[in-house]
Amino acid sequence: MRTLRPIKKVWVDRRVEKTNLTRRLLDKLPGIPVELVAGLEPVKKEFRFSPDPVGESKQHLFITEQKSFVRPCPCTPGSLGCGYWTIDLDLNCPFDCSYCILQQYLNWQPLTVSVNRDRLEAELKIFFQRRTSGIIRLGTGELADSLALEELTENSVFLVETFCQQDRFWLELKSKGDYIRPLLEIRPADNVVLSWSLNPEAIIAAEEKGTASLKSRLQAAARAVGHGYRVGFHFDPILHYPGWQADYEGLVAEVFRVVPVEAISWISLGSLRFPSALLPVARRRFPESRSYEQEFIRSAEGKYRYPRPVRLLLYKELGEILAAYGAEDKIYLCMESVKVWRDFLVKIKRGRPNFAFPFPWLG
Ligand code: SF4
Repeated sequence: MRTLRPIKKVWVDRRVEKTNLTRRLLDKLPGIPVELVAGLEPVKKEFRFSPDPVGESKQHLFITEQKSFVRPCPCTPGSLGCGYWTIDLDLNCPFDCSYCILQQYLNWQPLTVSVNRDRLEAELKIFFQRRTSGIIRLGTGELADSLALEELTENSVFLVETFCQQDRFWLELKSKGDYIRPLLEIRPADNVVLSWSLNPEAIIAAEEKGTASLKSRLQAAARAVGHGYRVGFHFDPILHYPGWQADYEGLVAEVFRVVPVEAISWISLGSLRFPSALLPVARRRFPESRSYEQEFIRSAEGKYRYPRPVRLLLYKELGEILAAYGAEDKIYLCMESVKVWRDFLVKIKRGRPNFAFPFPWLG
């Protein structure tokens, strides 16, 4: 299994000790110490005196169950949402990005795999029945990377099967990895989108430790398209630094060298943003990171962001680069204000009302 550092120990919640999926997961992790626990607290205690509890949390696996999985994406106050729903099947991520908000948000939650898929299946069944109109997107990439633990869990196969025949409900599996083999062994579904978060290779190497290289991510995307899947891309977080424009121009050219625009369902743009509480954690863990060197403003919801003119410049320039490949209709902004959206629409989409705002299916 691709992880930055090997898993040191597996913790099994007593409630799920005897489930088949727990057994299957343990069979895939031979030789790793296993301990039964009554809940999460003893696991977190294990990291308490570590100089890097966040790093430790990425090396411990907690197998458990959850009460509920599906919730509306909280987006951010004051931003225009895109109607997304999240499925919190796994929590935390073995990759280690310097800007990742999970370092602070998850509060040392170990890599967590929930094995009560029957509950998720039942929850989704009710969800599908109750939402009777429009197309709704759901994805597992909010509090985890959708495919980072795929070799272990094969969650994606279960999810694709669950979404099969549910045409109005689109499942997105979003990753910075390249392991998609199980997905290539099943029939692709029209309502499943495999997506990748992208950054220029220099940023990946410096700021996204343990993730797949740009080349590997794009090769995986090309394989997915070849197999019949739709794909998506997230330019998120876009970083602003001297020379950013040339780097992102090269990045977009790489994307369209291997993936045809017709195969792309959506492209999101989101500039670097983070809650103030992340800053001390990230600075301590990644002293060499250059993510936090630029000027930031604190927005009304308490997050730090680039000043609005800088954000608009990033979106406008990148939007124009994407438009040169015929992709302007695929773009939406992630966690941006109505004001920035309006200015972006005027500049890139030229205010045409039939264009996505942010998606035709929300209109
Ligand atoms: S891949 Fe995503 S979830 Fe994983 S560390 Fe990076 S930003 Fe966080």
